[in-house]
Amino acid sequence: MTESVTDQLVRANEKYAGGFTDPGMDARPVRKVAVVACMDARLDLHEALGLALGDCHTIRNAGGVVTDDVIRSLTISQRKLGTEAVVLIHHTGCGLQQLTESFRHELELEVGQRPSWAVESFTDVDQDVRQSIARVRTSPFLPHTEDVRGFVFDVTTGLLREVDPVGAPAA
Ligand SMILES: [Zn+2]
Repeated sequence: MTESVTDQLVRANEKYAGGFTDPGMDARPVRKVAVVACMDARLDLHEALGLALGDCHTIRNAGGVVTDDVIRSLTISQRKLGTEAVVLIHHTGCGLQQLTESFRHELELEVGQRPSWAVESFTDVDQDVRQSIARVRTSPFLPHTEDVRGFVFDVTTGLLREVDPVGAPAA
């Protein structure tokens, strides 16, 4: 019988737990930062940003989009668990650049129901980062909106490039 991927993960966890000692941390991130990033498999946030266990909150979804649910997590992160800075990370070659909002329509035709969520597809990654910064900064629920910065991670070089929140209009 072949082992499923989940079986492999469970086996890896047994090994992990075998060498694990209770770090004695509480739930408040040590470095008081929340990172919102795309779920892309090529983006290893802890390695790429020099983060260690307990350092940060990590909130990920397709695109690293600031949805209502991300605002929900950030609100809890800031108000109940002490984070103050927000780092937004999108990346080159994102799958959302291959999609359009017509994906919702295709789904509706296929399954007979239109999703309530927006696809949040984009073509200009810098503009999408700027929109995400704006959504965080204008949220009435977040007490800390001064230290909000957005970046594009290059999946071929591993480098982050910061996006100017103001930006120039696309030529
Ligand atoms: Zn992506």
